[in-house]
Amino acid sequence: MTPEERLRELAIRHAAFAWLDRQRAAGHETFTQQDTTGLSLAGETIRLMPTQQGIWKPGNLQAALSFRTVYRSDESLRPYDDNVGGDGLYRYKMRGDDPHHYQNRALREAMAEQLPLIWWQGVPGGYSALYPIYLIGEERADLQFVVDIDAVPQPDIAASQVDIELDPSYREQLTKLRLHQRPFRAAVLRAYRTSCAVCSLRHSDLLDAAHIQEDGAGGRPVVTNGLSLCKMHHAAYDRRIVGITPSYEVRVNAAVLQEVDGPMLRHGIQEFHGKRLMVIPERRAQHPDRLLLEARYQAFLDAS
Ligand SMILES: [Zn+2]
Repeated sequence: MTPEERLRELAIRHAAFAWLDRQRAAGHETFTQQDTTGLSLAGETIRLMPTQQGIWKPGNLQAALSFRTVYRSDESLRPYDDNVGGDGLYRYKMRGDDPHHYQNRALREAMAEQLPLIWWQGVPGGYSALYPIYLIGEERADLQFVVDIDAVPQPDIAASQVDIELDPSYREQLTKLRLHQRPFRAAVLRAYRTSCAVCSLRHSDLLDAAHIQEDGAGGRPVVTNGLSLCKMHHAAYDRRIVGITPSYEVRVNAAVLQEVDGPMLRHGIQEFHGKRLMVIPERRAQHPDRLLLEARYQAFLDAS
């Protein structure tokens, strides 16, 4: 690839990421084929997602632009965990068993040129986009590439840019957490119609997908273990200031209920005490799991 060709590859990729950023800012986190076809980016008409196969190299590019992994409801527990190596990094399987298949060559080209890619992760109703990701190694005997997702901005993990050498087991945990985070967020926000369950705020930039059973306690990244919460209600839920009963009612910590503060505390927290959740998913199968809520509510009571 000449330096000019590489620049063109980068320009299209950066335009694609900027397009995805804008979609997300507008609350659009689950994408279909159709959404990502016929886009006009950096002076080219381009499609961002593969149609049939797992790997996508547009005709006007020399290196792969994206790949995708499908959603499987029976695997929804931890679909990516089996593919994380002992170094804590994810492995993406090549297409077929020929490392020289043109699609595998396109991935190798992206690796050699250090070009960022998009990973489409299957979620109910479409795909969530993980980007920018890089391929940083190849294990040809095992027909797989080593994937680096450290450059992906994280919506809910604070201080993700750690510059220290990561212990492999810690990196493994971090990788698994990050691989599940985007699909989990996309699925939860979609189920809750991009609103806070407690206050119905609809500003996607201010919404998180909160776990009911916390990730560190083995909570699964599935919609029934999730609640779409605004930043404030998420923090209040995590700090046991707000609890949610198994019958979907909001409770406020007794001490906080007595506090006198400004309008944020009054209207943002205290007034929700005793109210039902304002938003729950339309589909019954996506409602928050009552047993998980009960365990978490008990922890709220214990902290009060
Ligand atoms: Zn809220």
